[in-house]
Amino acid sequence: MKFAYDDQNIFARILRGEIPNKTVYENDHALAFQDINPQAPVHVLVIPKGPYMSLDHFARDASPDEQLGFMQAVAEVCRISDLDDGFRAIANARAHGVQEVPHYHMHILGGRPLGRMLQG
Ligand code: AMP
Repeated sequence: MKFAYDDQNIFARILRGEIPNKTVYENDHALAFQDINPQAPVHVLVIPKGPYMSLDHFARDASPDEQLGFMQAVAEVCRISDLDDGFRAIANARAHGVQEVPHYHMHILGGRPLGRMLQG
């Protein structure tokens, strides 16, 4: 798999400050912000600051510091968002995963029972 990152995608533009976002948490390697079209009471997106297209791209090519910083951001989002009753983390990738924005992002969803994992 070859990864060709498009730096005009909307999350790249958010990272450059060209588009506003509702930031929940930020560190050196990751940004977490509210999803613009929330599917649950808690719906936060965690993205790396580096140019990675998908989870498998990030897992393959991101440095240990980037990977640690990303997971620390996930931990902080879960802590801040009062998710003691549980949550779901989703990373859609490419066509079969129905990924709309080609910059790796993890959805953190919660705040209500979420039902079974997959429909259809
Ligand atoms: P995915 O299908 O996993 O690529 O999901 C992309 C997500 O990005 C969707 O849940 C959208 O609602 C969300 N989204 C798109 N544009 C923005 C934006 N400008 N700010 C916040 N979330 C966005």
